[in-house]
Amino acid sequence: MEQHQKRTWAEIDLGALDHNYRTLRAMLPAGCRFLGVVKANAYGHGSLAVARRLEQLGADYLAVACIDEAAELRVSGITAPILVLGPTPIPLAAEPVRLRLTQSVGDLESAKALSEAAQAEGRPVKIHVKVDTGMSRLGFVCDEAHMADTVEQIAAVCALPGLEAEGIFTHFSDADSSEEFTMLQFTRFLDLLEALKGRGITFAIRHCAASSATLKFPCTHLDMVRPGLALYGHYPDPSCEGLDGPGLQPVMRLCTRVAAVRTVPAGSYVSYGRTARLEKETRLAVLPIGYADGFFRVLSNQGAVSIHGVSRPIVGRVCMDLSMVDAGEDVQVGDVATVYGPEQPVEEAAALAGTIPYELLSAVSRRVPRIYRG
Ligand SMILES: *Cc1c(COP(=O)(O)O)cnc(C)c1O
Repeated sequence: MEQHQKRTWAEIDLGALDHNYRTLRAMLPAGCRFLGVVKANAYGHGSLAVARRLEQLGADYLAVACIDEAAELRVSGITAPILVLGPTPIPLAAEPVRLRLTQSVGDLESAKALSEAAQAEGRPVKIHVKVDTGMSRLGFVCDEAHMADTVEQIAAVCALPGLEAEGIFTHFSDADSSEEFTMLQFTRFLDLLEALKGRGITFAIRHCAASSATLKFPCTHLDMVRPGLALYGHYPDPSCEGLDGPGLQPVMRLCTRVAAVRTVPAGSYVSYGRTARLEKETRLAVLPIGYADGFFRVLSNQGAVSIHGVSRPIVGRVCMDLSMVDAGEDVQVGDVATVYGPEQPVEEAAALAGTIPYELLSAVSRRVPRIYRG
């Protein structure tokens, strides 16, 4: 389909991805590996195209949330190491072995299942041990009270046949806001590594920094960093800005094309629920984008899109497939509207929606074709 026939599309600027990759890379010490997080369809940018580009750029590792996401990349020919961040259900323990994935392991039971699967398949599988230093999500609990027990359990995991314990990692819960808590988590992680070393257990790849810590806390880079959002050109928090030299470039521009312009008389109600009433006669542009495209309904009557560089407020409720905006005097059928892009930052829409750019970007739905440039 030609672009002028598309209703709504997401332009993905792979040149901007290159720029962000190089910008982040330049912050790392020599020898530090780079893992690109491509979970959730690469935060809505298209995981295969992004993974291919990162592979070309020389990323050392990729990461996904689950087996299905990893399988999609492997069957499409991605050969780079892939870390599965989430737990794999025990009945699927053979999958990481067959797909040559690196499985995150956060408990002894799933480590045993993986070990049995590796032996049954006649091939070892790489693991990265997951440690919980304060997020209370996944991993071996690693606070002061559980340190000794955790050392025993990780030692038991590493002794299982068929498992190749290549890495160990933790995840910061509050790197955006609290240096103090981040350093507490980091210290716990280092203390654990020290205790394991005392038992003769070491790991080639120790990692903990996602985007925020990659930008804000260079001391946490260790052997590898794991940025996601920053690769796509967005800062997790304003406190992360200005630390990377050239600045990151947004990779996605979400666009739609004005489908109709209608002059609606004063006093008319607009859209479902009659939440908007026009005070004066108004030209309304109808945009073929709605919440089924991932455009949040909570932006009704508060968000905006940009047309000809001018911000156009959303009037009335966002519908499943359509939204209305104030067309001013100048907007015509066929004009392109930027829904998220440099002149209409996704950060602003996220703030209005009471959420974060991660949620808006990853919500851009399958109905929206991705068009790659660069
Ligand atoms: C999603 C995720 C990341 C990437 O986080 P960003 O904030 O997007 O950089 C890194 N590590 C883990 C464990 C994750 O789940």
